[in-house]
Amino acid sequence: MKIIAIGRNYAEHAKELNNPIPTVPVIFMKPDTALLKDNKPFYHPEFSQDIHHEIELVLKVCKEGKHISEKFAANYYDEIGLGVDFTARDIQSRHKEKGLPWELAKAFDGSAPISSFMPKSDFKDLYNIDFHLDINGETKQSGNTNMLLFSFESIIAFVSQYITIKKGDLIFTGTPAGVGKVNVGDHLEGYIGDNKLLDFFVK
Ligand code: MG
Repeated sequence: MKIIAIGRNYAEHAKELNNPIPTVPVIFMKPDTALLKDNKPFYHPEFSQDIHHEIELVLKVCKEGKHISEKFAANYYDEIGLGVDFTARDIQSRHKEKGLPWELAKAFDGSAPISSFMPKSDFKDLYNIDFHLDINGETKQSGNTNMLLFSFESIIAFVSQYITIKKGDLIFTGTPAGVGKVNVGDHLEGYIGDNKLLDFFVK
């Protein structure tokens, strides 16, 4: 399986990092070794002094496809969960300055904690989903899918022009504003609506 992630998909987050609002989706990938499941602790790596949390809704792909049209893209994901796109912001900033790829900042071991998934049919309106991240009991990021720049369907249509998506692949759909540094000892709790799906510590 693979993890496809979308950058800058919420305007307020693009602005907080002084990035332009994209006209096509910004995509990058993480390997399966980035996955962190079952609320296991995230071990803070030593190569970064500035690991940021990015809470994101995650789509689970349910069938293989390529060159998928936006009209049919909804058939290609059937579950939604939460993930954190941990980012070594210090490394990413240095690489952005030099025009280098982001993998060392985005794809390291444990950089993709994911929750259990909910069936898509549990949601009344996919474009009115509230989600948020609390750290040590304080809400740091909150978003709603009505603020997405690129819809789930347009992401799938765009990505599948270049990369075949397969059953079991995960798509991180972008983070809302409020990203910031995590520290050893932090307690992260992620919610979709009132439903707590992520609950883990930084060690
Ligand atoms: Mg992200």
